[in-house]
Amino acid sequence: MTTVDVPHPLGSPDGPAREPSEDVIECIDPRNGRVTARIPVVGVAEVASAVAGARQASGPWAEAGPRRRSAALLRVRDRILERAEDLVATICAATGKQPAEAATTELMAVCETIGYYATNAERWLRDQPVHPGSLVHKRAWKRYEPVGVVGVISPWNYPFTLAMTPVVTALAAGNTVVLKPSEVTATVGEAVRELFVDDEWPGLVTVVQGGPAVGEALVRSDVDKIAFTGSARTGRRVMAAAAERLTPVLLELGGKDPMIVRADADLDRATRGAVWGSMQNSGQTCMSVERVYVDESIHDEFVDRVVHQVEQIRQDDSGAGDIGSMTFPAQLDVVERHVADAVAKGARVLVGGRRLDRPGYWYAPTVLVGVDHTMDVMREETFGPVLPIMRTTSDDQAVELANDSRYGLNSSVWSADEDRAAELAARIEAGNVCVNDCIVSYAVTGLPFGGVKESGIGRVHGAEGLREFTNVKSVMATRFRTPREPWWFPVPAGLADLSIRTLRLRFGSTLRRRLGR
Ligand code: NAD
Repeated sequence: MTTVDVPHPLGSPDGPAREPSEDVIECIDPRNGRVTARIPVVGVAEVASAVAGARQASGPWAEAGPRRRSAALLRVRDRILERAEDLVATICAATGKQPAEAATTELMAVCETIGYYATNAERWLRDQPVHPGSLVHKRAWKRYEPVGVVGVISPWNYPFTLAMTPVVTALAAGNTVVLKPSEVTATVGEAVRELFVDDEWPGLVTVVQGGPAVGEALVRSDVDKIAFTGSARTGRRVMAAAAERLTPVLLELGGKDPMIVRADADLDRATRGAVWGSMQNSGQTCMSVERVYVDESIHDEFVDRVVHQVEQIRQDDSGAGDIGSMTFPAQLDVVERHVADAVAKGARVLVGGRRLDRPGYWYAPTVLVGVDHTMDVMREETFGPVLPIMRTTSDDQAVELANDSRYGLNSSVWSADEDRAAELAARIEAGNVCVNDCIVSYAVTGLPFGGVKESGIGRVHGAEGLREFTNVKSVMATRFRTPREPWWFPVPAGLADLSIRTLRLRFGSTLRRRLGR
């Protein structure tokens, strides 16, 4: 393993598409800026052959059925447990996060997902009978069939969870997978590859390493579905490229999650939630608390408590702190830009507001007040350890501000009155909402997760998440066999009259009144 200080080879998330230099990805430990590994990038032709190989493996895997597939997935979980310490170390060296963060939000989340689908896939994939309506002599049902080969493209912020979740789900539904992990955390992609080395089931998951060009080659390949997790900007490109072959896409994109704090909220809980929700993983979570709206009657006390708690955050590379470094240097530039823009427009930095003067990619936990919606920090995804707090005068105003966003991923409402909180939650335009908590709805694997507006299309987790990776086949068959159907040629005389009489009998008010409907 080489250890030399180098600038990060990858460019800016807002700049032109970034490519790994030449044909090798230099993996950087963001805690100190050192190169930890060099991983070869695949060529476009290799992407095509990976997809062809996955297609070959897909038939037997689909035919194996949910039970045998679950057994294979549980073996993968056993490997995760056997290699837990190594996996945590690999994730931390790739992302800069703390071991506790990696063990919970990455390993635990993935083990939960595997267990959930190993237990439930058979049930969710079973044929579902459907009432045949007027066609009482027929039987009808829905059948869930694997789509075939799924291309998974994953980001760097949770490189294990966000690669493994779509991979495991697509496999549980009977598909095989070609995975393009983030080039920023390619070593974790290698660890995923090793988890699927299995004598009984070779070729279930093929990992292709590279940057945007490899991702785009996968999108334009012969895959049957793309599951993309990443920024809205790239999501647009993926969808446009997929449109050429009409390849369906699942898009899990960015967020700008609002937190509404009512006057009656438990201040201790709400402030702790705000600080954890905005700072964990150094704020690099798609459902981080990115903006807080606090009722004016408690605003000042809320801010005092938040500042006190943020000052106590242990940010270091000891492995025992609360948060570590950021992962991707270009994201640090975004954070700096958002804070500078806010300050230029009148916001005040109460704590933090600066890069740390040390090797690696470190930004101090930051609290901003005096913010408004003219500022990037309240409109664009900051994706860093920054908590902007805004004063509100009513619940209605808080909901209006929460909805004043092009994103709609997660959200939270904090109040002692849970009924009122649930009413407000129902008015927030988002795919997910938590009452008196934040982020953790993702940890409930039975709850579908995904966004509205520019936060994405489709869902992971739950029955809906599994069925994302299936084609629904509608089947109709005969209950009572008849020599012919009444509407077949030659059309019988009087069919129109008979149909109208039948309609009146079935749907008319006389029968409805009699049945009390
Ligand atoms: P990104 O969009 O820059 O990259 C994501 C992946 O797409 C990477 O593997 C990248 O190589 C690949 N890629 C880049 N250009 C491509 C192209 N033209 N065609 C195909 N693939 C391409 O995102 P990122 O910076 O890695 O991750 C951070 C973003 O992901 C944030 O916006 C965050 O909110 C979002 N995210 C969303 C969720 C969710 O579940 N909704 C979860 C985590 C992260």
